[in-house]
Amino acid sequence: MPVKAKRYLLIALAAFLVLAVTLGPAGIGVLVAQRTSERGEYARLGERADYALKRADVVASSLYSALQQLAQWQGERCTPAHIDALRKLALENRFVEDAGVYGDDGRWLCSSLSGAVPRNAPSIPAPDWRGVHGVVGWFQIPHLFNVSRPSLVLGYDHFYIEADPASLVDAIDDYNHGMGVFVTDPPHLIAWNTVANPKRLQEALLHDGVVPGSDRFYVIRRSHVLPIAVVVSEPRQQLLIVWRNSVWGWLTASLAIGGVLAWLIIRLFRSRLSLDGELKQAIRRDEIQVVYQPIVDLETRQCVGAEALARWRMHGSTVSPDVFIAAAEHSGLIQALTDRVLERVLRDLAGFLSDHRDFYVSINVSAADLTSRRFLDVLTRRVAQAHIEPSQIRIEATERGFIDADAARIVLQGFREAGHPIYIDDFGTGYSSLSYLQTLPVDALKIDKSFVDTIGYEAVSSSVAPHIIEMAHTLGLGIVAEGVEREDQAQYLAERGARYGQGWLFSRAVPADGLKLFVDGPSVPASATEQSTRRGRRGKARNGRHPEAQSSGQSRA
Ligand code: C2E
Ligand code: CA
Ligand code: CA
Repeated sequence: MPVKAKRYLLIALAAFLVLAVTLGPAGIGVLVAQRTSERGEYARLGERADYALKRADVVASSLYSALQQLAQWQGERCTPAHIDALRKLALENRFVEDAGVYGDDGRWLCSSLSGAVPRNAPSIPAPDWRGVHGVVGWFQIPHLFNVSRPSLVLGYDHFYIEADPASLVDAIDDYNHGMGVFVTDPPHLIAWNTVANPKRLQEALLHDGVVPGSDRFYVIRRSHVLPIAVVVSEPRQQLLIVWRNSVWGWLTASLAIGGVLAWLIIRLFRSRLSLDGELKQAIRRDEIQVVYQPIVDLETRQCVGAEALARWRMHGSTVSPDVFIAAAEHSGLIQALTDRVLERVLRDLAGFLSDHRDFYVSINVSAADLTSRRFLDVLTRRVAQAHIEPSQIRIEATERGFIDADAARIVLQGFREAGHPIYIDDFGTGYSSLSYLQTLPVDALKIDKSFVDTIGYEAVSSSVAPHIIEMAHTLGLGIVAEGVEREDQAQYLAERGARYGQGWLFSRAVPADGLKLFVDGPSVPASATEQSTRRGRRGKARNGRHPEAQSSGQSRA
């Protein structure tokens, strides 16, 4: 993907993530506020319903016990003594307004309020409700003396008591809460307050509080002592008010969290974008430097070559190659960077290399460089222009570079045919080390620093280096040990047949002038003639092959 497109993609991704982390928590906040306020409001309504049921229970029990008391009358009914008893009961029970007797035919016979009832008094209609134990009920029939007010009448064995249904529902008296009291078995609404809609209350009781299309929500409570239940309701509007009050808190908290996350994302992407952008500029302005780490013959300690390592300073501070190489690989800049490194190497060392025909520089390539012949073509042209041997520029590739193994094989073969030896970098750290060695055109292995580090310690991995060396010998491959920091490591490796090494024991990576000094300068052993002959010999013997392969005494077929 082109760098520009990748940049846009990154910006789009950042924008998406920022939106997601701000809107996501906000949405969750709104939902949570809705849930908690709904749960809270249901709980509050539940408390009201509990209270309302308690009140209805008290009134209903009182009425039931009055009825029981009436039924205990053993004497003749409607005598003056009986009427006195009825009056006494009505006076003593604060919910009973009237108590009396009616006949088999429903004719009203006597009552505490009117004494003996005249013969032409109206008959009592058939009851609205017949309970399981012989109790019957008339609900919402007109009051004896005040016809505009409905009455609640309960009867048993031709006795009746009359009460004000409002006493059952007076626990709730505001404009918001509807309330109704039911007898159950079978269910029948017996009292409701002015706010309530009787039809909706009935639906609510029948459908467990769910009333589709209603603008109120309902809670039901059933009595454990009497066959009664209450339903209370509240406008959904109330929920909205509570929700609106709580949503601000949740919204603020979630937006704060979202804001922090968004800030982190923006920072991350900005540094990422600016790193990519800065790196692109640096490559374009040719600001990538190269340092050289000497590679030495472990036996003679003579410097035979060097590895080119890229260096970049962004706004005065050094950026680790691990960081900017990874960034270059991600952002598609790596091929341009590889080209720049090659240019630098040739600019720094072309003259030196043509004076030292047996000296080589190895260049690190990435996966992208191995997907096509592009870099190979650049290399071939530049090497020819620089009048140096192709074998003086070597290729270091890691297993990560073999993602597209088929393409990599073809390209590596191309490098090799053009005379550039191939090194497998960081050998042993990948997962497929052995399998590809059989099929890829490789000249030498660079034993990863991690296996050199453990030499001399009793770690399991300390035994890996000799195995790699042995295997390389078997396959006719050369060896360069990386990260040699101590003399004992150098000795150990040399004793086991590793011919070349690289590491701080010999030298850190140095600028081109430092490298030239390291090779030619006063630190070089006195027997310069011997060295030059050795170099000369190798130079001749190489003939397009690589010295590492020869060092093992074998060469790959
Ligand atoms: P690498 O190719 O494995 O390079 C060897 C790294 O080990 C270098 O780190 C080098 O400075 C370090 N090193 C060498 N000897 C010693 C030692 O004795 N002790 C210790 N502790 N370290 C030692 P550097 O320069 O930081 O490079 C890191 C990685 O960046 C390289 O690992 C390579 O994978 C990548 N890299 C560097 N330059 C380039 C480049 O031009 N192109 C590509 N594609 N990758 C590069
Ligand atoms: Ca390397
Ligand atoms: Ca390495």
